[in-house]
Amino acid sequence: MLNNMDKKGGFVISLDFELGWGVQDTNRDGSYDGNLHAVHTVVPRLLELFSKYAIHVTWATVGMLCVTSKTDLIQYLPCEKPTYSNTVFSSYEIMPSIQDKDPRYFAASLVELIKNTANQEFATHTFSHYYCVEDGQTKEQFISDLKSAKKIAQQPLKSIVFPRNQVNKDYLSICQKEGIRAYRGNPKHPLFKSEQFLDGWHFKRIYKIADSYLNLTGHHTFSLQQIEKNHIWNIQASAFLRPYYSRLKILENLKLKRIVKSLQYAAKNGEIYHLWWHPHNMGKNIDENFEFLEKVLVEFTKNKEKYNFQSYSMSDVVKNLEINN
Ligand SMILES: [Zn+2]
Repeated sequence: MLNNMDKKGGFVISLDFELGWGVQDTNRDGSYDGNLHAVHTVVPRLLELFSKYAIHVTWATVGMLCVTSKTDLIQYLPCEKPTYSNTVFSSYEIMPSIQDKDPRYFAASLVELIKNTANQEFATHTFSHYYCVEDGQTKEQFISDLKSAKKIAQQPLKSIVFPRNQVNKDYLSICQKEGIRAYRGNPKHPLFKSEQFLDGWHFKRIYKIADSYLNLTGHHTFSLQQIEKNHIWNIQASAFLRPYYSRLKILENLKLKRIVKSLQYAAKNGEIYHLWWHPHNMGKNIDENFEFLEKVLVEFTKNKEKYNFQSYSMSDVVKNLEINN
């Protein structure tokens, strides 16, 4: 079946599974804790929904959350830790304040559930939610981080999603050496360029939000032949699945239409559409978020029946690429 897929487009989903390790700098006041606790409900529900529609997904997981406690984590810590100029980015800074089995940071049982569910790819989001273009960190520290990610995963890692989509081209060869075959690049538009983190409200953020409702920057779909390789394959993102906001409730249909049009465009043209989000994004207004996601999956199924549009994890795409090369 695989040899036939070269002309077939597909729907790729990748999830950045990180719990509190991905928001420790922005959640200092604990206002996001509700979303983090809810991840323990969201992940099993996502797996159930993905099974119902036979959806393949890449779970880019932060290594630190793969154990049950801080005590267990100690044995996996890298020998070199990131020395960010702004220490607020470092996951190691908050470790002393974390309780041993804090569910906002540890989710070994969810990791097992993902690994035991069909068609789910267990991938990496680095060990410590490592920021590859922030000042102060070094290549050696990234290597050390990735080695710990491999150790704690206890299985080979084929795909990586760089935290905050900070793609550092100099680090791609390191990923290759560690056995990784693909990363999620950013959509090809100046709005989505890899850059250092900027918190708060700013023009780019508002433009990105508007782009989730109206087609301002294009579909960002691509054919297998267009996928570039720089040591590892760039399975670039097409769009971020924005969570339900009650204040923008009236625009939910526009948001759905934006995704549906891109999915249809990809299906008709034999291209790939790559959607991503974080499980914690769905941790508030859970039912509304799931209702929306199910509509997307129903739409995918229609395209599957009509155009033989496939469901792919990032490593499924790599399999197709390597069969054809
Ligand atoms: Zn992240």
